[in-house]
Amino acid sequence: MVTNLPAIGTQFLLDAAALAPLIPSLERRGYQVAGPTIRGAAIVYDTLHSLDELPAGWTTEHEAGTYRLKKRADDAWFGFTVGPDSWKRYLHPPEARLFAARRDGQSFQIVEENAEAPRWALVGVRSCELAAIAIQDRVLLGEHYGDVIYEARRRGLFLVAVNCTVNSPTCFCVSMHSAPPAEAGFDLALTELVEGPRHRFLAEAGSRQGAEVLAELGPAEATATDRREAEEAIKKAMGGLQRSMRTAGLREMLYEHFEHPRWEDAAARCLCCGNCTMVCPTCFCTTVEDRSAVDGNGAERLRKWDSCFSENFSYIHGGSVRMSAKSRYRQWLTHKLAAWVDQFGSAGCVGCGRCITWCPAGIDLTKEVAALWEPAGPPRNGGHPAPGPR
Ligand code: SF4
Ligand code: SF4
Repeated sequence: MVTNLPAIGTQFLLDAAALAPLIPSLERRGYQVAGPTIRGAAIVYDTLHSLDELPAGWTTEHEAGTYRLKKRADDAWFGFTVGPDSWKRYLHPPEARLFAARRDGQSFQIVEENAEAPRWALVGVRSCELAAIAIQDRVLLGEHYGDVIYEARRRGLFLVAVNCTVNSPTCFCVSMHSAPPAEAGFDLALTELVEGPRHRFLAEAGSRQGAEVLAELGPAEATATDRREAEEAIKKAMGGLQRSMRTAGLREMLYEHFEHPRWEDAAARCLCCGNCTMVCPTCFCTTVEDRSAVDGNGAERLRKWDSCFSENFSYIHGGSVRMSAKSRYRQWLTHKLAAWVDQFGSAGCVGCGRCITWCPAGIDLTKEVAALWEPAGPPRNGGHPAPGPR
């Protein structure tokens, strides 16, 4: 048993039962706790009051356009990979009120938004998801154009990371340098070890707050054997990834292949439904909607998630700039993997595979990128852009 505060970066061992006070400990500190749980036929992120609400004994099967829950042979709590939800909705909510106005005689008054940002403790954040939060930090905590809603929620955040010891066929985090083990950006990191009735966790504090919570769980220092077991479990999962992406020179290739025939091919399959952008943990685009009360006494302005796949998204006075599925798919993929680097210093993709699993047409960006790497062949129309919607 550790009597002083556990050292940051040192690995400790906990029996699964010893983690039971984790959520009460976080709640006592004023956090609302969210984590993975089963709703309907999927593992989503929702409010948790007890670790009993985790999807113990369940895993998920993924392929392009396919997702299924499946029973595991053991009672692992985190024996699955990412689902349709991402943590972005806790930090960059799908809908947020920017302001409201109330009629005051012949004039109106702006109603102040006094609601305090919730303080979330997120349990079960995978290393690709930590990387996604770091990307959104770069976008939304910018020095000149910071987003106040994101900033207030991000400031109060407590992150419990979980290192993946399973993978899905749609994961390609190794290619995007976001694979476990998580090295930074968390308060507490766990690695689950299940072997028959032995159910244990390696735990590591990444911050002072994390060390305080860990101290309350009564951890013992991990032995070299425990550490090796955890390392091997992660390594085995990452060694088995089935998808990858060639990233060296990707930005330049995408800019050069602006008129590659593969864009037409992808467009013929793409439904422009926007699912890929909704499930993506880094996509951040929004639109603004005004609503007024039917009695004329009030109005409010809302910010809502939007998608570059909608026609209205690129509406500029007189019409939309991107009228075709080709121009929208090309915009999304080229922004993610090329223009994002110019704007924010890294790609906007962490290799979580959500956009592959949740695309109803089964479009797989790793396959699209592989095809785009192939020489484009001689330019069509003598190099002039094809007529029609772009
Ligand atoms: S683009 Fe796809 S794989 Fe990359 S982070 Fe977004 S959802 Fe995940
Ligand atoms: S790529 Fe797939 S998920 Fe994205 S808009 Fe097209 S059909 Fe929808």
